Amino acid sequence: MKQGELGVHKLLDRIPVVCNGPPLWLAEYSNVRIVSGMSTLAREMDTPKPMDLTRIAVVEDSQQQFHRFPVISLVSPEDKEAFSIALFERYEQVESYAFSQVRIAEEILSDTVIDTIILMLVDGLSYDDCPKNPFIQPCLVNGPTITRVGFRNIVGRPPLAVRLYRAGFKRRRGFSYWDRKNELTNELFAGFDPASQVTRVVEFDQIYRELADETLHKTFVQIVTAGLDTVAHISRERPLVGALVRRILEEYVGGLQELLLEKGLSGIIYMVSDHGILWKDWPGQPCSLRLIPDAKATSHRYSVGTRIVPHTRRFTAYGQEFAVLPYPLVFRGLRRNEWGTHGGISYYESVVPFLKMEVL
Ligand SMILES: [Zn+2]
Repeated sequence: MKQGELGVHKLLDRIPVVCNGPPLWLAEYSNVRIVSGMSTLAREMDTPKPMDLTRIAVVEDSQQQFHRFPVISLVSPEDKEAFSIALFERYEQVESYAFSQVRIAEEILSDTVIDTIILMLVDGLSYDDCPKNPFIQPCLVNGPTITRVGFRNIVGRPPLAVRLYRAGFKRRRGFSYWDRKNELTNELFAGFDPASQVTRVVEFDQIYRELADETLHKTFVQIVTAGLDTVAHISRERPLVGALVRRILEEYVGGLQELLLEKGLSGIIYMVSDHGILWKDWPGQPCSLRLIPDAKATSHRYSVGTRIVPHTRRFTAYGQEFAVLPYPLVFRGLRRNEWGTHGGISYYESVVPFLKMEVL
């Protein structure tokens, strides 16, 4: 049976379906139980006990598909507002099966038979603002969509640099747009020698110039670079999102790819961001932010602390308590020179691009 003849909702009501594509997109379907692999489902069906009444979606392990079940292709949501609300409501369930930031370190460590690994950490970039291309998959931000949480999720514990060292990547090289004295930078570059292995940069070109003169064999390169976070918070004019995204993907990632090719090295370039941005009154965005004033809230989209705050979902992350808002609520309005915000749960903030580009 082809997708579209019945529609995914009606198919799920009738029969287990096998899913192709990012499981994250299943968030918009209610009352769905996710089963990993056909063999798991087959085992369940062979066990003589009553089957439950939830709808069943089978993800992963596409080799063993039974031909008797329909296969659906999961694609990015058309109704981003509905997806945002569904993601907030079913957050824990979705986080349990979707590819998310805390799984990135594992993903990087699974492919180490190469010369160079480059991880580009971009400060503020939504999956929604990126062009769709085969190198980019959606990745869920775990918890509040803020810089200090998102980046920590990605680097992990023990830090990726330390884990890669054990996997043979004895050399490491770090670059940061931020001041090296920043506490978060110290944490993200834990394991790097701040004096000899981390360089503060102003222009991306500096990174190519420095790396061009260095041996990158069995080297882990980690770059923290500016994305759209800063321009979202303060900018006189509406930021040119398309041009900024092209610069990151074409100029920065493209430049790193060229560098590896020129040096004759095999490598993988990864790029991911800490969180996306919820823009205000963006063309195509179906409704504006809705104000629910709260003078005690610490930010537009979340509040730090143990206080009970209506409408929010609670998270604990890295020793702090957060009360986080769904789309499209904000505790206070955005200033004229603020174009976007983040911290809450929505398609725009919680789904970030994860790029993996192999250079062989
Ligand atoms: Zn950020």
